[in-house]
Amino acid sequence: MPATGSVKMRTAERSPEASDKKMKLIILDRDGVINVDSDNYIRTVDEWVALPGSIKAIAELSKAGYSIAIATNQSGIGRGYYSLTTLTAMHQKMLELVKALGGDIAQIVYCPHLPDDQCSCRKPLPGMLQQILQHYPHDIDACFIGDSLRDIEAAQAINMPAMLVKTGKGQRSVDQGIIGADIPIYDDLLHFSQQLLTR
Ligand SMILES: [Mg+2]
Ligand SMILES: [Zn+2]
Repeated sequence: MPATGSVKMRTAERSPEASDKKMKLIILDRDGVINVDSDNYIRTVDEWVALPGSIKAIAELSKAGYSIAIATNQSGIGRGYYSLTTLTAMHQKMLELVKALGGDIAQIVYCPHLPDDQCSCRKPLPGMLQQILQHYPHDIDACFIGDSLRDIEAAQAINMPAMLVKTGKGQRSVDQGIIGADIPIYDDLLHFSQQLLTR
């Protein structure tokens, strides 16, 4: 089983290593936040379909100076449902959509492991978030946005502010009453970005 994957897609002018301490970081879950989720896994590039407004949200946050990273559980790799090559192609499709709107994605980190692999990256563990943070100043303002309890738990494990979107599993999570009252909830990623950028 491969180690945690990290597909680095940086451009020189937007390097996360830049030491601008005011630079802010927004880490996103992928399935159910950026693209339509499926209980049957997203297995092909064609099955990777953006949620309404999510690409626009990423592009606008990026253009406003936020660094965008993605931390996504992809156990479908460990299960043999799709290959790393396919996952990379899905991410290339996503990145091209963002770039077409003038934005960028600094890092995409994925966990390819199975729940029983006892890795340290599969959410609700915070390994991927920590891996992303390594590329930024230690005191950077960062937050994590997901649609599942395990996303919230991963962020809370390292005291990172967490937020929930109602897309994907989000509404179900809210209905189940498992999301803490202190967690901000947004209709979708575009709602989040509009709230943040007009603040
Ligand atoms: Mg999700
Ligand atoms: Zn893992």
